[in-house]
Amino acid sequence: TDTYRAHNFSAGPAALPTEVLEQARDEMLNWQDRGLSVMEISHRNPAYMAVAKEAEQDLRDLLSIPDNYRVIFMSGGATSQFAMVPLNLLGNGGRADYVDTGHWSLKAIREGGRFGEVNVVCSSEEQSYTTIPDRSEWKLDPEAAYVHYTPNETIGGLEFMDIPDVGDVPLVADMSSTILSRSLDVSKYGVIYAGAQKNIGQAGITVVIIRDDLLGKAADACPTLWNYQQVADNDSMLNTPPTFALYICGLVFKWLKRQGGVEAMEKINKRKAEKLYKAIDSSDFYSNPIDPRYRSWMNVPFRLKSDDFNAEFLQEAEKAGLLNLKGHRAVGGMRASIYNAVSEDSVDALISFMAEFERKHD
Ligand code: PLP
Repeated sequence: TDTYRAHNFSAGPAALPTEVLEQARDEMLNWQDRGLSVMEISHRNPAYMAVAKEAEQDLRDLLSIPDNYRVIFMSGGATSQFAMVPLNLLGNGGRADYVDTGHWSLKAIREGGRFGEVNVVCSSEEQSYTTIPDRSEWKLDPEAAYVHYTPNETIGGLEFMDIPDVGDVPLVADMSSTILSRSLDVSKYGVIYAGAQKNIGQAGITVVIIRDDLLGKAADACPTLWNYQQVADNDSMLNTPPTFALYICGLVFKWLKRQGGVEAMEKINKRKAEKLYKAIDSSDFYSNPIDPRYRSWMNVPFRLKSDDFNAEFLQEAEKAGLLNLKGHRAVGGMRASIYNAVSEDSVDALISFMAEFERKHD
């Protein structure tokens, strides 16, 4: 494309592949030669139902989702899942275990506690969430309805490199900022959910992957629209779904397939993260506080030698076409989110810019 596209390090809503946006643009007024856009037709129209079906199948292919898992698309973002998970899995009174590794874990814990008994089995709060508590320290309840954790803390930049073994208790994961970034053994999970606006597509739609034996356990008070079983049995079309958002997800899944799937992305993402952390570690000007064993591949927070340089760093970066590097207010400093749609070229451009900025200011 000849259109200017910045290097976009936004944490979310995040960069989308240029090819996907171009396709959406080209199809906007006249989709499938129908003389209308995909957002202007009924979700019951067979042409749209085919879009939804294909998106689900492509996601199933990308993650090798086993047949005993249902895939549903829901509205409301990942935050609504913080309530839906307990409402669907705790029945009319039950307890659940939660792992606390930072900002998003805590949000899930606080919301979950409104719907059932929530037990925090471990926390790295005392380490300012720079590490993950050793699995041997987790005080798991074998009778818990599920164990909830956050495989990648988007704000802290802390990521699990392995799937924790929690025995027979269903494992529930908020994969909003890591899904599709590396290969994944779905069969190890009870429920996986992910807001779309980082690695999947457009904000407002959320993917839920649920093992079918966990359906049908919802509390009586669970709203119909939030009932996984009802949504699954109605192909995620219990009411009008966010049709355009799902269409965009479908385009991203096709793009991922063209890139060689999740295995290919994993190689690229590993390289991107390694070179950025290496640049940070090999300088005295930049630093990252996270335990090197658990540094996120997707979100790389870093600080400059002094916060006095922050404003100038951001200003200069913007001039160089490097956008959205400001860290979350809870952490400060900078954060580069390097999701699937952020190319290795963008990471290289950031590394060069950082080196140049250091040379001028150190
Ligand atoms: N969970 C994680 C790990 C996130 O990074 C986010 C980011 O926004 C959320 C949940 C909240 O998602 P949403 O804003 O779609 O509700």
